[in-house]
Amino acid sequence: MPKGYTGKTLQVDLTNHKVEIEDNDETFYRNYLGGRGVGYHHLLKQVPAGIDPFAPENILVLATGVMTGSPLAASCRFAAVGKSPLTGAAGESEAAGFFGPELKKAGFDAIVFNGKSEKPVYLWINDGNAELKDATELATLGARALEDAIRDEMGSTKIRVAQTGLAGMNGVLYANITNNLSNFNGRNGMGALMGSKNVRAVAALGSQKLEFADPDYLRQTAKDFAKTFRNNPAGEALHVYGTTAFPEILSAAGALPVENFRRSALEDATLIGGDTYNEVLLDKRKGCHACPIQCKRGVALDHPKYGIDSRYGGPEYETIAALGSNLNITNLKAIAKGNEICNRYCMDTVTAGMTIAFACECYEAGIVSKSDTGGLELKFGDADLMLKLLEMIAHRDGFGDDLALGSARLAEKWGVTDKPLHLSVKGMEPAMHDPRVKVGVGLGYAVCTYGADHMNAAHDPAFVDPQSFSFNSAKPLGIYEPVPSTEISPAKIRNTIILERFWKVLDALGLCVFGYAPRSVMPVNQMVQCVNAVTGWDTSLLELMNAGERSVAMARVFNSREGFTIKDDKLPKRLFDPKPDGPNAGEQIFTEDKFNQAVKLYYEMLGLDPDSGRPLRGKLLELGLEWVDEV
Ligand code: SF4
Repeated sequence: MPKGYTGKTLQVDLTNHKVEIEDNDETFYRNYLGGRGVGYHHLLKQVPAGIDPFAPENILVLATGVMTGSPLAASCRFAAVGKSPLTGAAGESEAAGFFGPELKKAGFDAIVFNGKSEKPVYLWINDGNAELKDATELATLGARALEDAIRDEMGSTKIRVAQTGLAGMNGVLYANITNNLSNFNGRNGMGALMGSKNVRAVAALGSQKLEFADPDYLRQTAKDFAKTFRNNPAGEALHVYGTTAFPEILSAAGALPVENFRRSALEDATLIGGDTYNEVLLDKRKGCHACPIQCKRGVALDHPKYGIDSRYGGPEYETIAALGSNLNITNLKAIAKGNEICNRYCMDTVTAGMTIAFACECYEAGIVSKSDTGGLELKFGDADLMLKLLEMIAHRDGFGDDLALGSARLAEKWGVTDKPLHLSVKGMEPAMHDPRVKVGVGLGYAVCTYGADHMNAAHDPAFVDPQSFSFNSAKPLGIYEPVPSTEISPAKIRNTIILERFWKVLDALGLCVFGYAPRSVMPVNQMVQCVNAVTGWDTSLLELMNAGERSVAMARVFNSREGFTIKDDKLPKRLFDPKPDGPNAGEQIFTEDKFNQAVKLYYEMLGLDPDSGRPLRGKLLELGLEWVDEV
């Protein structure tokens, strides 16, 4: 058994309240690494084709990565994988924080939930043992109260809790799994899947020490990193601002979504920018397990209307844009309050904000009226309305019951799926980056197996300047040509494929992209050395990249089995409009036809079937995935 792993997966049969331990061998781990790789392996093997995501036969996998729990910076992540209630496709999301390392210390690399419990439960995991416990009394508590109640019941404040909140228990289709109250498996409804199984939380406490092949090398590398990461501009900016500097940067570039992507810049983005944030909201910088970068924001606000409970953390860029600029709201305190509400109920801020924006535009266009909204007047720029609607969504109260479905289902209900005001890919709304400035991100939105996510690959602007740290640190991956951010060309597609594959490697390793090149500080080859120092393997970048591609291929097989095709790998209509603001305003960056040609070329480069997007047989054989034909 390689070091760094526990070698054990917990199979939890919720219908029969049975817990079994499955042993995994080295070949399994070298093929699938961890996180998403392990998740998709179980998804393909255990989930029958064509089921409703809320059927008991769906599974929810929580899987740590190879490096999760090591002393290295930013080595804390775990994946949640299942058939997504929001999209019906392969669902996936990675979270940082503390839960992943604790799960390993408690004795398990992964948990697979299947079936459905009759009553609300939580899973208690402690030093190699696991037990389902009654959560009937806890099911409707807010996230903080639930975490405190479990810690009280089990007698330790060191317990790490991953939970779905009221949103998940109420079936909000974009409910999160939240750990430590401020780290999220977000976007495509893994919390709703957890809630559908009547699992309110998983609580882990471990005293087992993880073994590493070369602990001295890891300790020294972690020490050196902590001393030097701020010498790198990426490390310094992340520490000082987290991601809160992005509203101003993206607004200046015309890449900040405003009013449901109708515009892409604010007149005064400093109102929601990093310096204002540090002045008005920031209480302290916070981090995840063993991470000195501390890009997380601690926010405390004593305010009659927007008072913030500091344990829920502060908004990061995606939230500032989704609940702020995209709703034309520039009151940072109100945005922080919206963030707190979403975190209290465990709800994705991007889809929540995008769904409210979609509804506002539908209201403006006369598609819905007060008779649909329960008398509410919907309009952009109304912070109080945003806060009210978030509460209504979590409780599925009145019009909130509609908004809990997300914008794609509402677009169907209101008959506007083909209108530019509907923005989703595979049923999931785009994250807060305009692809007319970052074409590779746009390609990622379209082809990503789990919807329009910005974490599919590193972003284009990092690879434009041949002198930049990111460009040069991507050379070991095979990126040699700087390509303009707005270019759509074979070179751009090639770079996007390489970066996509590498980000899947980081995901499967359990590493946060903010610690590692090319997005951040630690060089690629040193990262590979660290994998060897954790596991005792003699692995290579080649072997890891193959595993990254394998994990994407499994997700594609799953999606093609569910009926997804190249027709689902497309961008929303509005994103083909001429660029609304910033440099090149008024210019059409790419036509729909040109973009679709790029998607076709992406398929050709990856050996995907031109219609279904399923990897061709030769590709599956190359990746050692012949078994997928039998599932
Ligand atoms: S860089 Fe930020 S999000 Fe990533 S592990 Fe460190 S503190 Fe957490």
